[in-house]
Amino acid sequence: MALMTGEQYIESIRKMHMQVYMFGKKVESPVDDPILRPSLNSVRMTYDLAQKPEYQDLMTATSNLTGKRVNRFTNIHQSTEDLVKKVKMQRLLGQQTAACFQRCVGMDAFNAVYSTTYEIDQKYGTTYHENFKKFAAYVQENDLTVDGAMTDPKGDRSRAPHAQEDPDLFLRVVERRPDGIVVRGAKAHQTGALNSHEIIIMPTISMGPEDKDYAVSFAVPMDAEGIFMIIGRQSCDTRKLEGSELDVGNAEFGGVEALVVFEDVFVPNDRIFLCGETEFAGMMVERFAGYHRQSYGGCKVGVGDVLIGAAAVAADYNGCAKASHIKDKLIEMTHLNETLYCCGIACSAEGHPTASGNYLIDLLLANVCKQNVTRFPYEIARLAEDIAGGVVVTAPAEADLKDPKLGPYVEKYFKAAPGVSVENRFRILRLIENLTLGTAAVGYRTESLHGAGSPQAQRIMIARQGNLPMKKELAKKIAHVKE
Ligand code: SF4
Ligand code: FE
Repeated sequence: MALMTGEQYIESIRKMHMQVYMFGKKVESPVDDPILRPSLNSVRMTYDLAQKPEYQDLMTATSNLTGKRVNRFTNIHQSTEDLVKKVKMQRLLGQQTAACFQRCVGMDAFNAVYSTTYEIDQKYGTTYHENFKKFAAYVQENDLTVDGAMTDPKGDRSRAPHAQEDPDLFLRVVERRPDGIVVRGAKAHQTGALNSHEIIIMPTISMGPEDKDYAVSFAVPMDAEGIFMIIGRQSCDTRKLEGSELDVGNAEFGGVEALVVFEDVFVPNDRIFLCGETEFAGMMVERFAGYHRQSYGGCKVGVGDVLIGAAAVAADYNGCAKASHIKDKLIEMTHLNETLYCCGIACSAEGHPTASGNYLIDLLLANVCKQNVTRFPYEIARLAEDIAGGVVVTAPAEADLKDPKLGPYVEKYFKAAPGVSVENRFRILRLIENLTLGTAAVGYRTESLHGAGSPQAQRIMIARQGNLPMKKELAKKIAHVKE
């Protein structure tokens, strides 16, 4: 099968029988739900852009498994050039959606699992790598969207998986059969789970010998028996039910997270990529996290481009674009945003091949990238709010603007620069609100902090990768220290 069009993708998700719950009720048709639909539209863009000749080079790649042209979101990276193109593709999609387009987690899981399974097989003579290659070729052939699920609910953070009071707080194997395994547990904050055909499960932390049942990786269809999702609430989510496109800020695109529950789900043997080899859990985590920290040097930068643009338009509409402090704030926002991009490109350009042959980013630089992402989007958002003015949180609703009695007053008192309609002014303000405080703030602001691992997780990796002994030796040599 060739690459899917966006429309074919939507229809393929519509055909699935996913169990989705929101506000205490089952959602019968998630594809048509007004709260959920914008997140589907974001993933759709990964298909639509891949169809456009001008984006072929960024959006597609040649598969090392089949030799065919595939969507880059299903690609196994074959060079540092592939890694760089990945980041550029993510920036492009961030610019086009101003939201989380979700398909990256699968791509990052693909590449982490590809190389880790190879190394497990080398040590244990298992067939995980063959299993994974077969699955990957199936995904590429059918141009599927895959969710990558790592984060367990984790319960008491001071205890290892096996030591939790409730054994299900980390996803685990509850039964081993001749034809496969049965798993139970949950994965939290799952971006795009409800818009994915398949889900790859990975462990969430390094594990010891007693965590054998928890060291498990596999793939199952999102509508496999026993899987259901509870959708997470977002600030301003029910505005999408009110019927005003203007008030939503970004009516077309969004992202949605869910708690994905695995209630005794069967996984056939050929879909298992790790099962009990505890010492490889850490490698899988480190590589997936590394790839996803690289990803943020692309997607968040693209969304940042939209936010910087919105702040600049707000300044134009307010009539203060020429003020030197406004210009300087826009420069600062650009500087911060491009610094993130530099990190995303740098960790890609400094990538190297793994034993399996696919390319891994430079882990130190990828962690530095994500550490900066935990800070800079906050400052970019602060400056955007500064430029936009308090009206970003006090502007009346579209219904007031369109009301025969109130409308003229809203028009009169919210008029700013000459020639700018109040409606356009409100549209830009609502977009800023959406990105900094509303539904998209999940994907831009808070996700910048916690997505791909919270700040401390990167600091641990930076400590591990920073090579302090080598730096000490450099200093001693220059200072002619003799010990
Ligand atoms: Fe992709 Fe960014 Fe969303 Fe992660 S947060 S899935 S990298 S768009
Ligand atoms: Fe994310």
